[in-house]
Amino acid sequence: MKPSILVIEDEAALSTLLEYNLDKEGFRVACAADGEEGLLRIEEETPDLVVLDWMLPKVSGVEVCRQLRARPETRRMPILMLTARGEETDKVRGLDTGADDYVVKPFAMSELVARIRALLRRTRPELVEERLEFKDIVLDRASRRVTRSGRNVRLGPTEFRLLDFLMQRPGRVFSRERLMDAVWGPNTYVELRTVDVHVGRLRKALREGGAADPIRTVRSAGYSLDQER
Ligand code: CA
Repeated sequence: MKPSILVIEDEAALSTLLEYNLDKEGFRVACAADGEEGLLRIEEETPDLVVLDWMLPKVSGVEVCRQLRARPETRRMPILMLTARGEETDKVRGLDTGADDYVVKPFAMSELVARIRALLRRTRPELVEERLEFKDIVLDRASRRVTRSGRNVRLGPTEFRLLDFLMQRPGRVFSRERLMDAVWGPNTYVELRTVDVHVGRLRKALREGGAADPIRTVRSAGYSLDQER
């Protein structure tokens, strides 16, 4: 599962460069050219992290930061602020406003990527960990292997992504629409019952040998990894 990043930056050349490089580093990237557009995009689809320019037209980076911190659903969203050299006081204020980290322009792309990874590791470890565990199920992202009580579980690529997503938030119920977005991507259209089919396959693979069903179906709401059983 690729972590998603929204870049809010008004310099088109820098924005394109960021999009290209972050995509190459394995992130899903979207861009907004000013603060207003940035806030709208976040409302439409919450990214895992925001790269936010300090000086933006319409709504400034500081104001975007302040508004995101004021909303319960984005209060803890990791924000990395981009500031220009010499804005020392502003930098401090940026962190006061609630940015988690900042990088001074001009910066090396490798430094920015390292800071993004560090920030995600700190705030959303489930996104960048190499290995996820839920009870007796272990999912290894590096080798793309899943085991249950040490037994190898063979999964197709879609079932693997589905399990990866569910294991990031055990106990939480996800609607079929939400699973569709997360597993197939926000711009792909698949029928809702396709989700049921793949959940069914995942269940079957995980239960092989008579193990308990770890997935709970919540009528008319969706699916979750069951923490009770
Ligand atoms: Ca700017």
